[in-house]
Amino acid sequence: MSDLVVVGGGPAGLAAATAASDAGLATLLVDENGRLGGQYYRQPRGDGASAVMDRSSRSGASAIAALRESGARAMPAATAYGAAPGRVEIDERGEQRTIDSALLVATGATERVVPLPGWTLPGVVTCGAAQSLVKMHGEPVGRRVLVAGSGPFLLPVAAALIRAGAEVAGVLEAQRLGRRAIAAACSSPDVLREAAGHLWALAAARVRLRAGWAVFEIREGTRGLRAEIGRLDREGRRVPGETASVDCDAVCLSDGFVPSVELAELAGASLRFQPRSRTWGVAADPVSGATTAGRVWAAGACAEPWSGARLSAAAGQAAGLAAAREIAGGAADPPAAGREERLSRRLSLAFPTRPAWYERTSDDVVVCRCENVTAGEIRDAARRAPDVSAVKRATRAGMGLCQGRTCQAAVAELTAAAGGLPIESVGRFTSRSPLRPTSLEILAAGAMPNAG
Ligand SMILES: Cc1cc2nc3c(=O)[nH]c(=O)nc-3n(C[C@H](O)[C@H](O)[C@H](O)COP(=O)(O)OP(=O)(O)OC[C@H]3O[C@@H](n4cnc5c(N)ncnc54)[C@H](O)[C@@H]3O)c2cc1C
Repeated sequence: MSDLVVVGGGPAGLAAATAASDAGLATLLVDENGRLGGQYYRQPRGDGASAVMDRSSRSGASAIAALRESGARAMPAATAYGAAPGRVEIDERGEQRTIDSALLVATGATERVVPLPGWTLPGVVTCGAAQSLVKMHGEPVGRRVLVAGSGPFLLPVAAALIRAGAEVAGVLEAQRLGRRAIAAACSSPDVLREAAGHLWALAAARVRLRAGWAVFEIREGTRGLRAEIGRLDREGRRVPGETASVDCDAVCLSDGFVPSVELAELAGASLRFQPRSRTWGVAADPVSGATTAGRVWAAGACAEPWSGARLSAAAGQAAGLAAAREIAGGAADPPAAGREERLSRRLSLAFPTRPAWYERTSDDVVVCRCENVTAGEIRDAARRAPDVSAVKRATRAGMGLCQGRTCQAAVAELTAAAGGLPIESVGRFTSRSPLRPTSLEILAAGAMPNAG
């Protein structure tokens, strides 16, 4: 029996479940990973001997210990594959659980990657994949690695690769990094210290950070990969003439974050368009995390893609206390998160998504990797009907195993550009249960609810 199910065991979900349990709620925390921690607090595998127990993993270990002390029940390796108002459907290692309970969604975000020629080649990975390989196994993704994209996340990934023994062939940041990036770094002494540490690691390893540069194409070379790189203008368009080639055996790409809103949407919560990141987050009250659905709260990167770990934890704690107050009454007020909110706002200003980045996505590039749909097919369909759902029906983009989590942002950008429409007017893929590949046995069991 649970008063509150928290889905997501990252900084937001751990803080939320701990606060709710401390305030007296019977709380269950569910995460599809076998180890709690989410993206930032990711924990090493095994005894951690070969993996990197860095500052973020140590913060995660403390947050997990606090959860245990609070008495909240943790259910790792369990996927919330569906939800409806007042109900969540879970696949726990092949066992179906339907739980009638209030819900707190802390499902985080996925990485945005602008599809470009060669992005599907072996050796080309997301920065998140490279980071988890280092954090969990202590292994760099290649011997000579190029890191490219946009956002402060590029720096810890490059620094982690250096610590793990890789040669970093360069870091390319698509933004020009002017006073807005400096203002963001200066919003918190912790962030400034962290950024300075990463920059120092890059300088010590003689790694060049090029601001206003991007990868245009990746090809297989004689000894690995060859990335064609070039300069961008302020709008993110290619500047003719200023180009170079980089030989490497791995390329890590990351162009920002896209909130994971699907579970909250199935539970009845509305979404809010985020103009600077050109994507949708769960519409949650900035103080309490309350959504537009009754007894559904949301916190962390699923609501605000630039929330970062500290604001996500603060928002999770606030939402956990708000849930406890509504369900059982009497919980304390959450502490103010002013400094972290300022950082998040400044990061969104310094690292906006630029629609012109998608000019690199030439017609022959595969955008939906599950269903093998190219940018040309998406543009053709979008010219006929500039609506993301219509493009999905016409091309099958977004109908594969990942349910569009990887391609949704790109399909929306290509559809808006082909139709000459603002991106917020071309819609989104509809969230549907099951959110993850789920066996028929589980789905059949879900049709006959049992107690959680
Ligand atoms: C790949 C990646 C790497 C990042 N690295 C950094 C970094 O180094 N530094 C930094 O400041 N920020 C980083 N971020 C940004 C990061 O999102 C935030 O800083 C912070 O981790 C957000 O916390 P959160 O609790 O909201 O989400 P997360 O930490 O993302 O946690 C969400 C959790 O929800 C779980 N989940 C999602 N859907 C379901 C479901 N249906 N069923 C069960 N479980 C589910 C996931 O498994 C995950 O553990 C990264 C983001 C990504 C996507």
